[in-house]
Amino acid sequence: MRIDILTLFPTMFDGPMTESMLWKARDQKLLDLRLHDIRDYSEDKHRKVDDTPYGGGGGMLLRADVLVRAVEAVLAEADPAPVILMSPGGRVFSHQIAVELSQMERVILLCGHYEGLDERARQLVVTDEISIGDYVLTGGELPAMVIVDAVVRHIPGVLGAEGGADRESHADGILEGAHYTRPVEFRGLTVPQVLQEGNHAAIERWRREDGLRRTWRYRPDMLLKAQLSEAERYLLAKFAEEDARRISDSAR
Ligand code: SAH
Repeated sequence: MRIDILTLFPTMFDGPMTESMLWKARDQKLLDLRLHDIRDYSEDKHRKVDDTPYGGGGGMLLRADVLVRAVEAVLAEADPAPVILMSPGGRVFSHQIAVELSQMERVILLCGHYEGLDERARQLVVTDEISIGDYVLTGGELPAMVIVDAVVRHIPGVLGAEGGADRESHADGILEGAHYTRPVEFRGLTVPQVLQEGNHAAIERWRREDGLRRTWRYRPDMLLKAQLSEAERYLLAKFAEEDARRISDSAR
């Protein structure tokens, strides 16, 4: 997969994009990540890319002419691709969107900065907009890094079979169950018995139940959309009953 990132601050990507899983994906040619400095597309002798907004108000805006020139040049380098603007007003990033993007041959991520960009650049070249959450950041660089990381995990071959992304939290609408490693007992807390034994079906059942219990407790909103079996719906009823009993016991 090829990902092109257009940014005013390409060096911000050093580190997150050159270590660990992302470096491995690039090294193994599973990810072709290219950074483009928007300033290279300025025709101004001082490489200026921004200007003050019409109508006043604080802050600077990225100019439409520079952005359109940059995006069109990068687009022309290879096959057609969606141009995704990092934007606090975009669709909110999720597991589903990460999977969707990972199935594309190529995507282009456009990072805004300052007060944002001239509306005409958005109208002329942007085909999709993604937000990483309901808050405002200084620039689109951190959102782009978050998206690249979450997307690349879904490219086949990037994670080993063992650490597969399809069983993790959010993959099937519920959180992942608890994990333990050695020692078996630490400060009086013991690894659940079932995980210490080799019964894989029982371990699988325990993990799914623990994930379901955590989702019930911490993110019950997710359960409205989760695909649950009849046994799992029965478990939810059991958790609800346990909670009700705990509440009435504590009231006594
Ligand atoms: N004035 C704008 C915010 C500009 S923040 C507004 O009120 O909507 C500067 C840039 O940071 C944006 O252009 C965008 O590219 C990026 N950005 C900020 N918050 C973001 C978020 N939650 N998700 C994705 N990108 C974000």
